[in-house]
Amino acid sequence: MTDGARSATRPGSTPREVATHCPYCALQCGMTLREDDTGVTVHPRQFPTNRGGLCQKGWTAAELLDHPERLTTPLLRDPASGELRPVSWDAALDRIVTGIRAIQDDAGPDAVAVFGGGGLTNEKAYALGKFARIGLRTRHIDYNGRFCMSSAAAAGMRAFGIDRGLPFPLADLGRADTLLLVGANPAETMPPLVRWLTEQRRNGGQLIVVDPRVTATARQADLHLQPLPGTDLAVANALLHIALTEGWVDRTYVAERTSGFEAVRRTVAAWWPARAEQLSGVPVADLEATARALGTGGRVIILTARGAEQHAKGVDTVTAYVNLALALGLPGRDGSGYGCLTGQGNGQGGREHGQKADQLPGYRKIDDPAAREHVAGVWGVPADDLPGPGVPAYQLLDSLGTPDGPRGLLVFGSNPVVSAPRAARIEGRLRDLDLLVVADLLLSETAALADVVLPTAQWAEEDGTMTNLEGRVLRRRALRNPPPGVRTDLAIISDLATRLAAAETPTTEAPAAEPASTTAASTTATSAATASARPEAVAAARFPADPAAVFAELRRASAGGAADYAGISWARIDDQDGVYWPCRTEDGPDTPRLFAEEFATPDGRARFHSVDHRPAAEEVCATYPLHFTTGRVLTQYQSGTQTRRVPALRRAAPEAFVELHPDLAARLGIDDGDPVKVTSRRGELCAPARLSVGIRPDTVFAPFHYAGAGRANSVTNDAVDPISGMPEFKICAVRVEKA
Ligand code: SF4
Repeated sequence: MTDGARSATRPGSTPREVATHCPYCALQCGMTLREDDTGVTVHPRQFPTNRGGLCQKGWTAAELLDHPERLTTPLLRDPASGELRPVSWDAALDRIVTGIRAIQDDAGPDAVAVFGGGGLTNEKAYALGKFARIGLRTRHIDYNGRFCMSSAAAAGMRAFGIDRGLPFPLADLGRADTLLLVGANPAETMPPLVRWLTEQRRNGGQLIVVDPRVTATARQADLHLQPLPGTDLAVANALLHIALTEGWVDRTYVAERTSGFEAVRRTVAAWWPARAEQLSGVPVADLEATARALGTGGRVIILTARGAEQHAKGVDTVTAYVNLALALGLPGRDGSGYGCLTGQGNGQGGREHGQKADQLPGYRKIDDPAAREHVAGVWGVPADDLPGPGVPAYQLLDSLGTPDGPRGLLVFGSNPVVSAPRAARIEGRLRDLDLLVVADLLLSETAALADVVLPTAQWAEEDGTMTNLEGRVLRRRALRNPPPGVRTDLAIISDLATRLAAAETPTTEAPAAEPASTTAASTTATSAATASARPEAVAAARFPADPAAVFAELRRASAGGAADYAGISWARIDDQDGVYWPCRTEDGPDTPRLFAEEFATPDGRARFHSVDHRPAAEEVCATYPLHFTTGRVLTQYQSGTQTRRVPALRRAAPEAFVELHPDLAARLGIDDGDPVKVTSRRGELCAPARLSVGIRPDTVFAPFHYAGAGRANSVTNDAVDPISGMPEFKICAVRVEKA
């Protein structure tokens, strides 16, 4: 086994090792961490998803543990100099509590908001949602997963009654006769997954990729459809049109397991292949070949990802591919189905347990009276005390500091200055706040704007659980304690809740309701809370810093919900190397495959929804004649806060670039490497040109991992999907010129 990259030397440390998972993407590759006198090394571990593989990001993950830029003390902005200065935890927490109290006393509970992240563990996501609702009593909480998975989640909910990215194990990909990837580039985003694609083709399967660019994944495909950005929905409707014409629709399945097909049939009747070719640029022959592979294959899987989803019509686009899958009778059939490839490390679990504006734990709706009663019972408060739904992430960020918006914001594990659309506007909103608090391990671009920065533990310094792209709940295991001066997010939430409660008027009454169950953790918490009526004691009991206690409560809060974790214990995860939700009892089965018998709708049938193409929110014109789209590169992750600081990853992808076709470049007088400026109605980015025949001549591309002049989100459109709130990251109109 080859040694992985090392963290800095820690002389005198005790040699030890721990089996855990990569801190980055939703593949959650298994890895072993070893620590000795020379530092921490990463070693690949056999796990069902990565089968011993890691990408460069995983190999180098330990380099951030002792990184010289790591935050190890709270920072407070000095009012005189305007600089961030190191302070004690007491000083930092006092400033936060004083600030929150002042804002809420003046403008009410909703004047303070919380913004979370899809990389937080299940325990943190749960605690953060609970803290917002009963610690701060604000309705305003949402998270950066809104920018990642929300369109696929909404489409899955309305079709299947449940949202689990892959409703089957990843290993099914290797057995598929036909695999259609729409807007997915796993060869760069999660390279170990490519082993399954290789196995699929070795078994005689056909791989078809739909992507406007010739990506690393598209280069491996048997057939690559290269549509104009924003036309994926029309392509799906044309594929279903062909399937209907050729008699490949599974009429028995449609009749017995679905409803609503007739309206879809009428809509797709208008999407004859030549019309779809005219709009998308995908040749009729390729549409027909794709439909044939899907309609006549045995085991067929259709997967979407951000390329199809990050649009103002993202929910409808995903729905069009779900319609196609349902018409072909795929969901629930052995070895077949529809799924989406989740992006962020805990993008799945992070959206199940309450940090989404409209949700309570267990994927419950916050406006459902029964859900409110159940969760309020677990939390020990009256249901009427829970606030109502908040607003989706972009709407929340865009309201910050405005007369009707929140004046204070607490950010955990997110960097919206780089990751939000129309980022310069959002940066301005953050600057307008009375109080901005950021908890992070490094000084991200968002943290650099904060009034208070709190240093947090890293993945190798904490226990907890993550839920991977298959809906499989995994253990994150601590190798070592956080360094002195650093606290876990759970400890920070507990500290804040306790101090906020202490600042309230004391009460002589016990909590209003008992938790619904009596596990050891809940009994301890309840007893402590009841024995002492001091608000800070109640808060301390309600917000434990111990992740095991939080997970025990999460299980009870999720019990009976769609994402039911009641039967999942850390010990069971250890025994099974992961447990698929829903898992309702400790001695009952978990659920690797969904939909074999029925869907999670009231009548057990999946729902078709008629969806039609509509133009992008912003179309090209004489002033902005080119399409602009964004995406990822192999060696960077999300907003780059971590990966831009890892030397090997920085060397591999040091800066932003603008990819454009040589024909377009020649027309604009641009050579490879020339600095170019990309301008939209919202802003501009400047970066070197990278010429590629793999992109359409009417489209330019930039990666979104970078800040400063190369920030792609300075340009992107903040139009959002009306159902999911997903911004339109994947298409807007721009002009390009030599800088
Ligand atoms: S970044 Fe994703 S693909 Fe790469 S090692 Fe980590 S979990 Fe695996």
